[in-house]
Amino acid sequence: MSTHIPVLIIGGGLNGLTAAALLAHQGMGCMVVERHADTSIQYKFAGISPRSMEIFRCLGLENEIRAKRTGDQQGGGIARARNLADPDIRWAGPAWSDASSYSPTQPATCDQHVLEAILRHYAERGGADIRFNTDFSSLEQDPATVHAVIRNRETGKEETVVADYLIAADGANGTLREKLGIDRKGPGVLQHWMSIIFDTDLSPEIGGRPFTSCFVSDLNATITPRPGGRWLLAQQYFPERGEQPEDFDRDRCRDLVEQAAGRSGIKAELVDARSWEMAAFVADRFRAGRCFLIGDAAHLMPPTGAFGGNSGVHDAHNLAWKLAMVVRSEANASLLDSYDAERRPVIASTLAQALARLQQWFKDPPGRLPPAVDIVDDYDVVFGQRYDTGALMPEAAAPDRSFEPVAELAGLPGTRAPHLVIEREGEKLSTLDLFGRDFVLLADDANWHAAADRLRESAGVPLACHVFGSSGDLDAPEGRWPSAYGVGDGGAVLIRPDGFVAWRAPSAETGIEGRLVQVLDEIGVRVGHRDAARR
Ligand SMILES: Cc1cc2nc3c(=O)[nH]c(=O)nc-3n(C[C@H](O)[C@H](O)[C@H](O)COP(=O)(O)OP(=O)(O)OC[C@H]3O[C@@H](n4cnc5c(N)ncnc54)[C@H](O)[C@@H]3O)c2cc1C
Repeated sequence: MSTHIPVLIIGGGLNGLTAAALLAHQGMGCMVVERHADTSIQYKFAGISPRSMEIFRCLGLENEIRAKRTGDQQGGGIARARNLADPDIRWAGPAWSDASSYSPTQPATCDQHVLEAILRHYAERGGADIRFNTDFSSLEQDPATVHAVIRNRETGKEETVVADYLIAADGANGTLREKLGIDRKGPGVLQHWMSIIFDTDLSPEIGGRPFTSCFVSDLNATITPRPGGRWLLAQQYFPERGEQPEDFDRDRCRDLVEQAAGRSGIKAELVDARSWEMAAFVADRFRAGRCFLIGDAAHLMPPTGAFGGNSGVHDAHNLAWKLAMVVRSEANASLLDSYDAERRPVIASTLAQALARLQQWFKDPPGRLPPAVDIVDDYDVVFGQRYDTGALMPEAAAPDRSFEPVAELAGLPGTRAPHLVIEREGEKLSTLDLFGRDFVLLADDANWHAAADRLRESAGVPLACHVFGSSGDLDAPEGRWPSAYGVGDGGAVLIRPDGFVAWRAPSAETGIEGRLVQVLDEIGVRVGHRDAARR
């Protein structure tokens, strides 16, 4: 028996479920295959960057994530001390700082297992077929389809799934990348860690202040309070000194908890102890034929900076709208080439930032690391990612830096469209609230609106237009829109469904409709596909 679906996602972890939710938002059917019986129970990803929160906000999930938050990125600081009893505490400020100057949203803390459940339900409500307890076993692809064999782990029953496209979100230990013949490069495994989860009555405050996590220098470990008296101790261990995961039995874990607490005789009930490797790799390609790698399947980075999981969310966001448009015949298949062209260079730069932080934060960073790059602000990394080639019309030569400073984002094609508080029918919103499913043209002149309407209605282009000023539907305070987006009188900016700027007309254009058709065509959008389908 075989089932035909538009997109098959292997791996129902953070990024597979994010991709499923984003495809559901696009009205695009998908199947997710996950070998575990349910969403993850491990503490891994917790710090959701404000850029990732913008993406979840676009799905309408911001309030639910905040309601179910499992910590506070901003209320609690990052501390460094010998142990929790050490009076000499050094504070490194909140994990993520206030983002209100750059974003309509703020960072959040939501443990991966809680977030995954939220994403799963959103995707299922949108029609995703999520199969837990199911293993992906093998794959073949031809020029038109992907054939994957999956197997129910309870019944042993096998099924062939035929999909237009496949997303490999099978994580760090998945097999798809190798099956697709894609190599990966990087410094490799850097450190070995144990995640020790325990219940205790330790106080989530030190020095009278709540903390998000504390680096315990006595142990070279971090200790992190979780809701309900549960805690995570992440402890480095050294195989080269003969240490191994099996050494971390109940007594050893209790001893470590006491050392981290800085006192003995505390209550500590061991819940779980498992090993993980801190590694740094980037796949040589993020695509093979009809298959795309996202998240840890495509790249692994140390948690220093909390960029790993967030980068996977951005991968899914970059890819989902492109797949949806190609499957709906609204775009040419060539649009999909831009996924690798855009994401891989940005991932390489993000990994370099994570490694530079690793070298700065650890007293004994591992060998084999490349020379550290200059560290840029966390928000430049998460908001200031810049695509130099891909589904966009570049302007002058790209600036000689990997990330745009977030405070300087000003509508350059290939960058995240700036957040600007605007008004529509007396209601305040962010420019970012206008983006999500279709292309959006922000314009200074109603002529653009007329052209966009014609392209949408007669040529089937998924394009909306909003016009600033008295002839339009939007107002920006003190006329700030032109400077925020780098346009002058009569100009316009074309924004992609993922909120990145595709093209900018700095001033009024003649032959507006023809120019828009040319730009959309170069990006890969099919103008007139509806007419073509009718013929
Ligand atoms: C201790 C720790 C802390 C971290 N903290 C942060 C943080 O604060 N912020 C951040 O951005 N990142 C963080 N990360 C990184 C983040 O957790 C990962 O980047 C993220 O989990 C990757 O998600 P993923 O969906 O790509 O892979 P995974 O979460 O690993 O999911 C892959 C899924 O694929 C499934 N799978 C694999 N093979 C098959 C198969 N053959 N058939 C069916 N299913 C299969 C697996 O069961 C798994 O559920 C942290 C990581 C660690 C280890």
